[in-house]
Amino acid sequence: MTFESLPLIESCDDCAACCRRTPIPPFQPGEEAHWNVPDSLMQPIWERIHLDQHFDLLPCVWLDMGTLKCRHYDLRPQACRDFERSSDLCRLCRDDEGILPREIRSDA
Ligand code: SF4
Ligand code: SF4
Repeated sequence: MTFESLPLIESCDDCAACCRRTPIPPFQPGEEAHWNVPDSLMQPIWERIHLDQHFDLLPCVWLDMGTLKCRHYDLRPQACRDFERSSDLCRLCRDDEGILPREIRSDA
């Protein structure tokens, strides 16, 4: 499988493949202060770090698994803001999660 063989992605709807594989918001050290993230929203991050150091592919603690949206989108880290839909990493995440593009899904 090569990146070239993966389909281009037009929409993030019904996906969240990237967030499903990023167990905590990927803040740089101290970055949360830049976005004024309250401690109450940092708490689940600290708890996950404290409880489990082997969480590579768990869904992000800020991901709403019902809506597949970030629950604190306005406060998300720069890395999330910079992640590009249809980039190689995006398409690899979708492929790893088994999420087909809308145009070739039978339930679309
Ligand atoms: S994996 Fe790609 S298409 Fe899916 S939510 Fe992330 S950026 Fe959007
Ligand atoms: S966009 Fe939100 S849910 Fe997704 S990885 Fe970033 S902080 Fe987590």
